[in-house]
Amino acid sequence: MFTPPEYLSPSSIRTFRDCPQKFKISRFDNIKEPPSWATHLGSFVHEVLEHLYGLPHEDRTNDSLKTLAGELWTTNEWEAKVLELTEPKGGIRDFKVEAFASMTNLWKLEDPAETDLDEMEMKIEADVEGVRMLGYIDRLVIDDEQSAIISDYKTGKIPNERFTSEDDKFFQLLAYALMLEASDGVPTSKVELLYLTQSAKHELAATPVKLSIAKGTIVETKEALDAACGTGDFHCNVTKLCDWCHYKKIGICPAHKS
Ligand code: SF4
Repeated sequence: MFTPPEYLSPSSIRTFRDCPQKFKISRFDNIKEPPSWATHLGSFVHEVLEHLYGLPHEDRTNDSLKTLAGELWTTNEWEAKVLELTEPKGGIRDFKVEAFASMTNLWKLEDPAETDLDEMEMKIEADVEGVRMLGYIDRLVIDDEQSAIISDYKTGKIPNERFTSEDDKFFQLLAYALMLEASDGVPTSKVELLYLTQSAKHELAATPVKLSIAKGTIVETKEALDAACGTGDFHCNVTKLCDWCHYKKIGICPAHKS
């Protein structure tokens, strides 16, 4: 009934696992969730930090960050994008203050002038156990043992351990590790989540056990997605999170139609 997507990304796998119906509405009905304050904040912060690390080491200062943020704000028309949000958390000044606080918190986690990155926003395509995968790695470092350290900026809150397992929290980065090994033969030693808002770095060793769990998640999700595409049955996973789901808000989720 539906043709499975040619590629899966770690985030599309996450969406399908969270709610198959949500995946179906987004991918097959092509009704996308609009950008939010949180997604815009993440994109703007990522953009500025990518440019910061594009500068020579000695120029990666707080002043350069301010200059870059100002230039990118104008060039990429962020003010208009923020003003177009349907549910803004505040005004332009609030957005800038929140974004700048996240960016400057980076200095509490590492000194950008002393940090070497080998790749940023690296596009990666790979076949993981027969599943075609596509994604973008925020930051990659090759260590002295020729293993990768993969890291990702996060501007959201640290997930509550009661509701999010370690395997789920690091799934995206472990999936990238599997993709890197499959495409370039480069093993990964460690993955890191840089929670900028809370100035916290969470690390995980990319052990064979952790990688095997992530691989199992990819394969299981692909099998479940192929089955749903075959039958057209995309289950509605009704949880408390539905209250934040755009498809409930606009009245198109079948589970919430009266
Ligand atoms: S409202 Fe809930 S059940 Fe419906 S699509 Fe969204 S997450 Fe799925």
